[in-house]
Amino acid sequence: MCEVIVLFNGYSEKLENNIMKANCSCTLIKASKNIIVDTMTAWDRDKILQALIRHDIKPDQIDYVVCTHSHADHIGNNNLFLNAEHIIGTCVHSGEIFLDKNLQNEEYKICPEVKVVTTPGHTSDDVTVLVETKKHAKPICFAITGDLFEKEEDISDPSIWKELGTVELQKTQSLMRSYIINIADFIVPGHGPMFCVTDDMRKIIKDQIIT
Ligand SMILES: [Zn+2]
Repeated sequence: MCEVIVLFNGYSEKLENNIMKANCSCTLIKASKNIIVDTMTAWDRDKILQALIRHDIKPDQIDYVVCTHSHADHIGNNNLFLNAEHIIGTCVHSGEIFLDKNLQNEEYKICPEVKVVTTPGHTSDDVTVLVETKKHAKPICFAITGDLFEKEEDISDPSIWKELGTVELQKTQSLMRSYIINIADFIVPGHGPMFCVTDDMRKIIKDQIIT
């Protein structure tokens, strides 16, 4: 039994004078471990607590917190989950104990259905959570990508992710986007609702690889 539950759909919009209004997607994974991915801003504490109650989970039942990268809108409520191991980009820690998981070179399998892989681009330290489960006996893979994919629309309009990411890492990000979309059936992007991957999308992303 493994469930991927998007507690909140991320969003981002440009207001005037270069001001952005944004919050991240926040996802609960109920597998052999309970995992929360990206904890929004510090102002969202009550929203997250209420959402967990609706899904019958107490904060101290969360085993892992994964922040896809360390930007402010992805880490705001990590301190709700003090029984959990925290994976912040490639940094893995529990309190003052920092673990060497060698995430730069290896994937980190946190339970049989869930692993964390590095997908640099938006920042040098981004990770993606991959959940491999089954639906009607057919294997399916969910990728919770953080801002590797900003939102579904950035597939047809790559200027969306390019403007928000690290300029020097655009080539890397284009490769990582192709790697993830080729293995994922569903993507939870950093700032938009979950979407179903199509072969057309995979082709478009392949053509966008920067060489
Ligand atoms: Zn973000």
